[in-house]
Amino acid sequence: MLTEADPQLAKNYDEDLRRLATLSGAGITIAGLVLLAIIAYAGWASNQSATARESILLQNGLNRGIARALNEQKSVAWWDDAVVKITNAQIDTEFVNSNFGVFLTETYGHDEVYILNGENRPLYAFTAGAQAEAGQFETRRAALAAVVAQARGDTSTSTGLKNRPDAFGADQNNYRTLTGAVEAARWAGHILSVDGRLAVVAAITIVPNVDMSLLKGPSNLLVSVTYIDSDYVTTLGRSLLMTDLAISPTAASGDGVVAEPLDGDDGTHAGYLTWTTHRPGQVFLNFILPLVAMGVLATAVLANGMLRRLKKSSQALAMSEQQSRHDARHDTLSDLPNRPHFAEKLDHALSEAAAGGKHVIVAYVDIDRFKDVNDTLGHQAGDALIQAVAGRLKAKLRPKDLLSRYGGDEFAILWSATEPNAATLLAERIQSAFSTRFDVNGQSLLVTASAGIATSTGHTTTGDDLMRQADIALYEGKTQGRNRAIFFSDDMAHRVEERRSIELDLQAALANDGLRLNYQPIIASKTGAIVGVEALLRWRHPERGEMSPATFIPIAEHSGLMPELGEWVLRRAMVDARLWPDLQVSVNLSPVQFRQVDLEAVLQRLISEHGADPRRFILEITEGVLMESCDRTSATLDAIHRMGFLTALDDFGTGYSSLSYLCNFRFDKIKIDRSFVSGMSKSQSYQKIVHAVVALGKGLGMDIVAEGVETEAEVAIMTGLGCGELQGYYFSKPIEPEALSRLLKTHVPVSSIERAEFQAVALAEPLALAATG
Ligand code: C2E
Ligand code: CA
Ligand code: CA
Repeated sequence: MLTEADPQLAKNYDEDLRRLATLSGAGITIAGLVLLAIIAYAGWASNQSATARESILLQNGLNRGIARALNEQKSVAWWDDAVVKITNAQIDTEFVNSNFGVFLTETYGHDEVYILNGENRPLYAFTAGAQAEAGQFETRRAALAAVVAQARGDTSTSTGLKNRPDAFGADQNNYRTLTGAVEAARWAGHILSVDGRLAVVAAITIVPNVDMSLLKGPSNLLVSVTYIDSDYVTTLGRSLLMTDLAISPTAASGDGVVAEPLDGDDGTHAGYLTWTTHRPGQVFLNFILPLVAMGVLATAVLANGMLRRLKKSSQALAMSEQQSRHDARHDTLSDLPNRPHFAEKLDHALSEAAAGGKHVIVAYVDIDRFKDVNDTLGHQAGDALIQAVAGRLKAKLRPKDLLSRYGGDEFAILWSATEPNAATLLAERIQSAFSTRFDVNGQSLLVTASAGIATSTGHTTTGDDLMRQADIALYEGKTQGRNRAIFFSDDMAHRVEERRSIELDLQAALANDGLRLNYQPIIASKTGAIVGVEALLRWRHPERGEMSPATFIPIAEHSGLMPELGEWVLRRAMVDARLWPDLQVSVNLSPVQFRQVDLEAVLQRLISEHGADPRRFILEITEGVLMESCDRTSATLDAIHRMGFLTALDDFGTGYSSLSYLCNFRFDKIKIDRSFVSGMSKSQSYQKIVHAVVALGKGLGMDIVAEGVETEAEVAIMTGLGCGELQGYYFSKPIEPEALSRLLKTHVPVSSIERAEFQAVALAEPLALAATG
């Protein structure tokens, strides 16, 4: 089947595009999101690891705090003097105060200092900046018991404390080896809740640093408490470059503030350490992420815009493709399928019909005298008429029928039918389309059309055959007088064949000098003298014998042979005319020749070739010529006149015989048609018309020639009516040039006066009319 402008194709195209758009949109979105996620994660992760690092630093700091406390204790606890001066028996108070209580609290910021003896009985206490009752220790004993026990190396009971790396111990190996106090030097440090407050609790044995022999029995134990208060934390923070490190009861966090639980090794929870974490990832989150997000967004917007434009332009492309596909198969003016389109559908219909044993009917419709509409009302009106006719025909057809604009004013109809009288039905429909007047540009026109209808006979008929047959029938309709539908018949084809063979033979005759001219004398009615001749073409067909120009001239006109044939006639006439220098020679011009663009040039060339005097030649033109393009007709007539030729309006009285032609175009002669002349004796109105024409013609300076004068009576009447010249069998049939030459020698003119007696008898009426005119 034919592919009409395919909407499915456009739709597929559209879907493909939509899929592409969706895919690329999704691709960009996913890629963008992944990129953003990566950046966000990188930012988040580097922030996380920075914070984690800070947490570790913080823990290390706390651990180091314990080690520092122990180191500070060690500076006084591992000392020979301390062993000597602090015994169960007696304590050198001054020594202990200055080297333990005051020294540790003032120099190192310990808050409470206790010294226990070998049995953990308190020997000394220094609290709140002053020496206190040693028994004060009892208020702390429970809280500090675990650390004391650990420092004593008591492994029998679990301390229940969280283990911390022993930063202090790692530094003491040297010392212990040196002193040999492997057993005696012991220590423990923890962070514990003391009196409801978190504190660094450190305990260390008081042992000699030089003379190990001084140590007798279990050693004393130095215990100190350093509260982790805001000062402690601030100092810790400064050492860790965490300047805003603080203790907070809640895990309050803000912009970049993180919190770490501050728990004692005994499991007590004492709030949170908070600080502003370094956030190296923030540059990713605050700067790169938004930038990239903007980039992704811009890319998405850009891609979206591009896809939109791509979609738009490809849609436009698809549309224009569809349009040009449509245009290639349709006529622009009527939007009907064009000729190739029709031919395709016809072939298809024929093959289908042949398979189904059906017939296909085609009609070839041609608007009658369309050219007149075009020429008189303009091309716009012509176009409007074409459209109106297309509309009318379409309305008369069924949807399954096909109407095509086949050419200028020609339409073709494909009628698929099963009814036996289908062709007649189609003919009726076509004719009914023209039954009412057309309104064209405000003008009401009665337009008719001729149609040729052909029916396929079987599988042998091709589309070309069928269209040719319809064309033949149309031609027949046109020649039969238009405004009718004619069915193709075989004898029509036969006639066409015949015409074709005549055409070929005529071509041959033209080439082989098989044509000749005869001349029919034209008589001056007053004197009876031969004043001119009309050249008439003669052809003896090799088989058919002498053939009438009325038969073969139309064939020549139809087949395009006329210009050549016409030129041959003109040339022949110019050559022959030299034989009769006193005669005017009339030559018939076919409308086809008249329309020929180079007619002027042809005439000019012939004149100079033969040295002919154009004033001796009268070119006879029929009314049909005048009905065609007015401007061009006038121009051509003027050009002919300018060259010096005379002109005659031939066959006046047939066809339209419009008097306006006589006014609008200048002719030298009017030739009244034979049918008019022979009708004259029967009808008085004919006489009146001729009389009027003669009067008008004379008024316009035109001579009147009566054609086909056969009888004495006609001679008399036409003379009486005022025709200046007469032509007809009465005087002579068209004759060979030699015969004419002879006739010219023997001819005895009979003047009209000599015929007057007869006229008076035969033509009482016309004469009376003439006399009054
Ligand atoms: P037409 O131009 O009207 O030529 C006059 C025709 O009437 C001639 O017919 C002539 O023989 C015929 N005729 C003349 N007197 C009488 C008469 O008294 N009685 C009768 N019955 N007929 C008479 P023909 O020669 O057969 O030519 C027929 C037509 O063929 C011409 O009509 C003309 O239209 C055309 N024709 C002839 N020769 C040429 C030519 O060379 N060129 C062109 N274009 N057309 C030509
Ligand atoms: Ca003529
Ligand atoms: Ca004539």
